[in-house]
Amino acid sequence: MMAHLRNLSRLVTPRRLITQVASSRSSSTSFLIDQPEYSFLKELGLERDNPGVYSGHWQGRGPSITSYDPGTGQPIATVRQGNVQELEQTIGLAVDAYKQWRQVPAPVRGEIVRQIGDELRKYKEPLGKLVSLEVGKIYSEGQGEVQEFIDICDYAVGLSRIYAGQLINSERAEHSILEAWRPLGLVGVISAYNFPNAVFGWNAAIALTTGNSVLWKGAPSTPLVSVATTKIVADVLRRNNLPPVVTLCQGGTDVGQTLVADKRVNLVSFTGSCQTGRDVGVEVQKRFGKVILELGGNNALIIDESANVKMALDAALFGCIGTSGQRCTTTRRIIVHEKLHDQFVKALVGKYKQLIPKIGHQLEAQTLVGPVHTQQNVENYTKAIEEAKSLGGTVAFGGKVIQRPGHYVEPTVITGLSHDASVVHRETFAPIVYVLKAKNVEQAIEWNNEVEQGLSSAIFTENIGQAFKWIGASGSDCGIVNINTTTNGAEIGGAFGGEKATGGGRESGSDAWKQYCKRATITVNHSGELACAQGVVFNVE
Ligand code: NAD
Repeated sequence: MMAHLRNLSRLVTPRRLITQVASSRSSSTSFLIDQPEYSFLKELGLERDNPGVYSGHWQGRGPSITSYDPGTGQPIATVRQGNVQELEQTIGLAVDAYKQWRQVPAPVRGEIVRQIGDELRKYKEPLGKLVSLEVGKIYSEGQGEVQEFIDICDYAVGLSRIYAGQLINSERAEHSILEAWRPLGLVGVISAYNFPNAVFGWNAAIALTTGNSVLWKGAPSTPLVSVATTKIVADVLRRNNLPPVVTLCQGGTDVGQTLVADKRVNLVSFTGSCQTGRDVGVEVQKRFGKVILELGGNNALIIDESANVKMALDAALFGCIGTSGQRCTTTRRIIVHEKLHDQFVKALVGKYKQLIPKIGHQLEAQTLVGPVHTQQNVENYTKAIEEAKSLGGTVAFGGKVIQRPGHYVEPTVITGLSHDASVVHRETFAPIVYVLKAKNVEQAIEWNNEVEQGLSSAIFTENIGQAFKWIGASGSDCGIVNINTTTNGAEIGGAFGGEKATGGGRESGSDAWKQYCKRATITVNHSGELACAQGVVFNVE
């Protein structure tokens, strides 16, 4: 095993590419956008230097930021971010746009969202490739992220014709109670680096359909995805002679904080860490704004005694290592029945070994494990492994930083830790999984639920009783409670989000659209006489 681990770094040399991207990596000084192999960036309308604020026209007077390829460390292009003053102006313009947009019939708004979806279909290949390049996720995941935006557009088109209120029976004769859903106003979307396209898509498609305007601030380290995506949307708005109902202000913490504090932003949909989300939640609440919080996870995969182990191993592999451990739904803990524990760990390590030749640049054809996003992720990875070792954990696989340009780490399996060890209870955004040994499903559920976060969870079991216990009141306390599938990789049709420190928000499908609306309860008296509810008499002759 040790010799095998020592050889890991040597094994991950560059290989054949989907495109000719590899050859250009040798010239380390120039921006990737200037190289012919990266012409897909120009197809998206990107340039060497890009304005990062859109409010009907493009500008950017804040600090310029360079976007880097996490797979090589090379600069891709730069974005001129917005400053606080530009953000405030953009909010004003987005509020004005809302006042026009809310008058447009919902199915007509749906038609605009349909056009956005169609435009995304046209640009799926280059935009997905940019997502891969800028985040570090592999080619198919970059494509999949854009597909998610396309899917939610399709969903929103249907929604535009069917979302509705209701008619409620009144206790008073010839009275009717109506319930109507009206737009909130301006929806501010602050997104995280790991889903720089889909999170905006989930929010924008539903917010637009329900009659809101949108102001987006993407993560500072993925500004090119924000700019390229907004260009695609802005083109649809321009062709339809619409005001800027989608706006963008790229920026750092100052821009984010100003957006969160501004009363004109009726709903803040925030995706990011629990730490930042807690501050955002408090700030928005201070001004009685609405907030959707989509925060960190610490997701467990439970392997019951009756589990289909082959399937569970495949789920663990994608769950723990997909996106190099940087999904909010990544499997961070595997809780295995004590009878299966040792054989499961052995088999999992065997699977991990098979992935070694598949570690590489995110745009290489055969890569399944790309880099992590930044040096900070690498440092957090190292820190977590050191802490795990100091707490008595054993590195069953991986554990080291891979020495090559870019930010690569070995996918890592750690055993032997206590279920409540500090490092086990923390979300480390890297491909590290802690395997824990439990006596039975009851204990596994207890451990699943004892962490602060409550995003995703999954059980592998062939026992129907255990399956129903898992989804019942005494089961998993998470927002996502899967059976015989992965903790990660949700579809757009369900409501997505989690409980406790994950923030309680729900986005995407089901009835998540209601969060983008204000509810009006309307009592209509068509009796010709005034009558109070509950039989109260209050009148004078
Ligand atoms: P982060 O919290 O560092 O940043 C998220 C966004 O918040 C960025 O755009 C950032 O610029 C902005 N921001 C930072 N400080 C702010 C402040 N004080 N006020 C307003 N905005 C501020 O998160 P990250 O490192 O980009 O992303 C990783 C985290 O996001 C992980 O914890 C992950 O689990 C979580 N995440 C959750 C979901 C979900 O749906 N639950 C999805 C993706 C990522």
